[in-house]
Amino acid sequence: APIAPFRNEAFLDFTLADVKRGMQEALRYVESQLGHEYPLIIGGNRVHAPGKIRSTNPARPAQLVGVHPEAEVEHVEQAVQAAAKAFESWKAVPVGERAALLTRTAELLRERKLEFCAWLTFEVGKNYAEADADVAECIDFLEFYAREALRLDRAETPIQFPGERNQLRYLPLGVGAVIAPWNFPLAILCGMTVAAVVTGNTVVMKPSIDAPTIAVRLLMLLEEAGMPEGVVNLLQGSGELAGRTLVEHPQVRFISFTGSKKVGLDVHERAAKQRPGQKFLKRTVLELGGKDAIIVDNDCDIDAAVEGVVASAFGFNGQKCSACSRAIVDTHIYDVFLDKLTERVSQIRQGDPADNFAMGPVISETSYRRVLDYIAIGRGEGRVLTGGGPAESETNGWYVQPTVIADVAPDARIAQEEIFGPVLAVIRSSSFPEAIEIVNNTDYGLTGAIYSNNRERLEVATEQFHVGNLYLNRKCTGAMVGAHPFGGFNLSGTDSKAGGPDYLLLFTQAKSIAEKL
Ligand code: NAP
Repeated sequence: APIAPFRNEAFLDFTLADVKRGMQEALRYVESQLGHEYPLIIGGNRVHAPGKIRSTNPARPAQLVGVHPEAEVEHVEQAVQAAAKAFESWKAVPVGERAALLTRTAELLRERKLEFCAWLTFEVGKNYAEADADVAECIDFLEFYAREALRLDRAETPIQFPGERNQLRYLPLGVGAVIAPWNFPLAILCGMTVAAVVTGNTVVMKPSIDAPTIAVRLLMLLEEAGMPEGVVNLLQGSGELAGRTLVEHPQVRFISFTGSKKVGLDVHERAAKQRPGQKFLKRTVLELGGKDAIIVDNDCDIDAAVEGVVASAFGFNGQKCSACSRAIVDTHIYDVFLDKLTERVSQIRQGDPADNFAMGPVISETSYRRVLDYIAIGRGEGRVLTGGGPAESETNGWYVQPTVIADVAPDARIAQEEIFGPVLAVIRSSSFPEAIEIVNNTDYGLTGAIYSNNRERLEVATEQFHVGNLYLNRKCTGAMVGAHPFGGFNLSGTDSKAGGPDYLLLFTQAKSIAEKL
C-alpha cells in the first residue's frame, strides 16, 4: 500500500485529566523499573564490561535510573566489526523494507509514548510537555526519513543524454559512528541513527554518558520492530575513550555528531586524518552549539515578545541548542520590556519535572557548577534582575534559578559563550541596524528570532540575520520536522538540516551510470 503523506505527530494535551493521569501512571510504572543493570549491545549480543556508568535522576541524584557497562577499546573494535559485517547484507535490503522498519518503530513508540516520556523525565529531567516534544520529534524523524528514503530511491538524472540511458543511485557509505548529546537523548539519537540506517548504512551509537538508559530503550524498540543484528550497535562509554576511538577507527566511514562546539571541532580534526588501512575521506556531519538571540524591535507586540523570550530561554532550563541566551532589546522599549520580563520570569514555578513544574533541574553536577560559574561572571558583566543562584531542593537536585542579567555588553563573555542553562543576557540596542550587528557578532549561527510589526525590518532580518533557523514573530525553539529543517551556520555546525529534504544525502554517495543505447 502506498505510504500516507507525512504529518507531524500531534502533541499531547496534559491539561486533559485522562492524559495527565496516563502520564502519572507511566511515571509510577517507570519508577518501578529504575536502577536496573543493562548491557552493551554488539551484533545483537548482550555484552558486559567491568567499568560502570551510573545514570541518576537530576531532580534527585540519589535515585539511580540505570547502570551501564563502560565500553573499552576492545568493545569499540567489536562493535565496528559487527557493523561492518551487518553492512554486507543490510546494504542490499530493499529500501521499502528498510523504510518499513522505521514506520514500525514509530508505531511501537506511539503505543508507548507515555512510558518513553517518563524515562525522559527520570533520566534527564524533562517535564511532561518537554518529554512529549522529544518523543513526538523522534516519531517524526522515523516517519519522515522513511518517506525520504523512498523518494531518494526514485531519483533520476536531470536529463537523459541522447543515445544513452542515464541513472543516478544513492548508495550507502558503510559503517558510521553516531555520537549524541544528552539534551534530546531520544529524538536526536534516533534521528541520526535511522537516517543512516534507512539509507543502508550500519552504525555504532555512542550516547551521552548522561543519558544512557533511554538509548537502550530505543535500541530495544528497534529490535522489536525487526531490525537485524549488527545494524545498530550500542556502546555506552565516555566520549574521551569510546567516542574518540570510534572517530579515529579506520573502518568508520562517517561520523554523525551532535554536541558542543569544542568536541565537534575535535571530532572534525581527528576525522580528517588518514589512519593506516583507511581508504576514504571520512565524512563528518556536525551539529554544534549556539548563542541564539531574539531581537525585540521598538515596534512590536511586547507581551508576545516577552512570552517568546521566556519560552525560548527557560524551556527545559535553557538546555537546548536553540535556546535564546541573548535578548537584543531596542532602547525605546528597553525598560518596559525588562519590567514585563522580570514579572513574567518571577512567575515561573520550579520543581520536580515528575510533578510537571515549568522548570526543573539542570542535567548534572558538572552542568550545575558551570552554569553557576557563568552567573558569577555575569554579575560582573551586567545587572542581575532575577535569579542569580542555585534554587533550594530538598532532594539535592541540580536546580538553578531562572536568571536574567540586563545591561550586558555585546562582547561580554555571557553574551558570547554558550552557557547551556537558564541564563539570559539582555543587551540594549540603539537602532535596528545595530541589533542586526549584535546578533551576528558571535562564533555561532544556529537559531534566532525577531519580534517586529515592521515588514521592512522583517525583510532585512530575513536577509541579514545570519542563522540556520530564523523565526519571525515567534520563539526560536521548537523546530518541527519537515517544516523547519534544522542546522546551523558558522561554528554551530555543518548546517545538515535534520528533518529536511537534503539530510539523507549526507549518508549516501551517488553513483551515476550511463549506458549506450
Ligand atoms: P558534548 O559534551 O559535546 O558531548 C556530545 C557527545 O560527544 C557525548 O556523547 C560525549 O560523550 C561525546 N564526546 C565527548 N568528548 C568526545 C571526544 N573527544 N570524541 C568523541 N566524542 C566525544 O555535548 P553535550 O553536553 O552532550 O550536549 C550539549 C551540546 O550539544 C550543546 O553545545 C548544544 O548546543 C549541542 N547541541 C546541538 C544541537 C544541534 O542540533 N546543533 C542539538 C542538541 C545539542 P560523553 O558521554 O562522555 O559526554
